[in-house]
Amino acid sequence: MSLYNELRPKSLSEVQGQDTIKAQLKGMFLSKKVPNAMLFNGPRGTGKTTVARIVARTLNCESGGMEPCGECQQCKDILNGSSLDVIELDAASNNKVEDVRGIIEKAQYISSSNYKVFILDEVHMFSQGAWNALLKLIEEPPKNVVFIMCTTEEHKVPKTIISRARRFNFETISLDVISDYLMQVCNEHGKAYDVDAIRLIAAASDGGMRDALSILEPFYDDDCITTSVVTETLGITPEKAIFDLLFSIEKGDVASAISVVRDAVTKGKNLQVMLKSIINTLTDALFVMTGASVETLVNTDSYRELLLSYVEKVDVDSILKLSKSLSDVYGVLAKVPDSEFLIETALIRAVNDMASQISLKEIERRVSDLEKGVSSMPVDVKPVDVQVDNVVNIATKEVSSNDTNEEPADGFAPISESDELPFVLDEIPDELPIDGDLSVAAVSEMQVNEPVPQSVSESVVDVPSDSSTAVAATSNTIPDELLSHLPAGTKVLGEAISSTVETPCESDSEDTNVVNDLAGEVKEEAEETAMFKADEEIPAFGFANSFSGWLQ
Ligand SMILES: [Zn+2]
Repeated sequence: MSLYNELRPKSLSEVQGQDTIKAQLKGMFLSKKVPNAMLFNGPRGTGKTTVARIVARTLNCESGGMEPCGECQQCKDILNGSSLDVIELDAASNNKVEDVRGIIEKAQYISSSNYKVFILDEVHMFSQGAWNALLKLIEEPPKNVVFIMCTTEEHKVPKTIISRARRFNFETISLDVISDYLMQVCNEHGKAYDVDAIRLIAAASDGGMRDALSILEPFYDDDCITTSVVTETLGITPEKAIFDLLFSIEKGDVASAISVVRDAVTKGKNLQVMLKSIINTLTDALFVMTGASVETLVNTDSYRELLLSYVEKVDVDSILKLSKSLSDVYGVLAKVPDSEFLIETALIRAVNDMASQISLKEIERRVSDLEKGVSSMPVDVKPVDVQVDNVVNIATKEVSSNDTNEEPADGFAPISESDELPFVLDEIPDELPIDGDLSVAAVSEMQVNEPVPQSVSESVVDVPSDSSTAVAATSNTIPDELLSHLPAGTKVLGEAISSTVETPCESDSEDTNVVNDLAGEVKEEAEETAMFKADEEIPAFGFANSFSGWLQ
């Protein structure tokens, strides 16, 4: 006798999982309102037929309780299959109308004290004629006749049948419940085992206890059920290989990633199975990254640790891209003979994708580093001690007079005169040696984007002197305060500013728009610079300090 049959539950209390079903059935027995048709729907191996047999015995048990006593003659007869009151029919091989007519005939013979229970397995296999015959019987059932229809494919059962039956939806059994039960069985049989090995078996059962016990059984002859033997026998991709590959991609190490694939090929592993394991792991990673507890994943402890370590290093977007890329390969793998090449190409692409984007985690890290740098700065460093006004503030002053207290649409707070932008000049010095065309946009852009120039003269003089696009701006475009500081002969590219900057703001004054545009751009860039200068290991204040030296 197989392990599963040996251990098949004989009462509801012995059934693993299915708590809802058990509660519904106990309520039914308690109320003594037994429907003449029940539909047990759910995945294979989740206990539908087993529970149907328990229901049949409970209905006929002489004890009249909510569980079969197992001692009375009815219980014994039903258990050994000699009872005439419980009839099982496998609809997979008895699906014709004649088979149902046989049922109708048997349903007529029933003793007044018992229930006649028909357990119809795989009922979705019935032909249309069989369904029609059964429907008549269900609509006008003889007294004390009960049909328990079991199916894994409820959508194939006619709606007319479903609407006349009480439905019980069986669910896959949680992997925790399965692994706990398998360990209990091993303990009771005195079998030694690795906990991880049992978890791997439970995971391979897809939530069905029958399959779990069937998978466990061949390992019963071993002295100890070990993880390595289970991994090898079930063809499971070792978690080390999976994470070696994922970490290699994350590090941009193409050679190591490909070596994992080639190693699997050498060992005769099925690459499609391996790819599925990797995609499952990426799904687990997304699961955890979106807030699920890693404890809900029934797998080995080392798998959970590796997974947590992996999600620390990657972001959701990268995983989604990698998962899509590998899923695409998985789909075509069976049709293409050179599957190894396909996987390797996908891995190279994945490494390239990861390298070409700065992950959110990396940005967070940089911001965090910046914040640490600011907070740990010595107190004697004066952040903004520039004596002169700057290009940025000239523009923003104009904005604040038109736009007082109004939060800009981009979410940045308006820059007031007291706001500190330590990385830009407060004033263009008179002696500033400018010998070419000067764009305000170019100046401000250099101020905020250049990685700390050695001196202002370098940063400003770099403006192309032969610019053929120089356009004179109106005096309204650039505040007089700035213009007065510019060396004679300087051309200002006002049009260039207004044509390249987008603004959500509306205004009647075209000139005000230009200034608003400039201010918005400068503020935005100032914010961005404040955030991203950190990776250049130069605190924002450093710029001001270098200028103080230059100015003195
Ligand atoms: Zn009994």
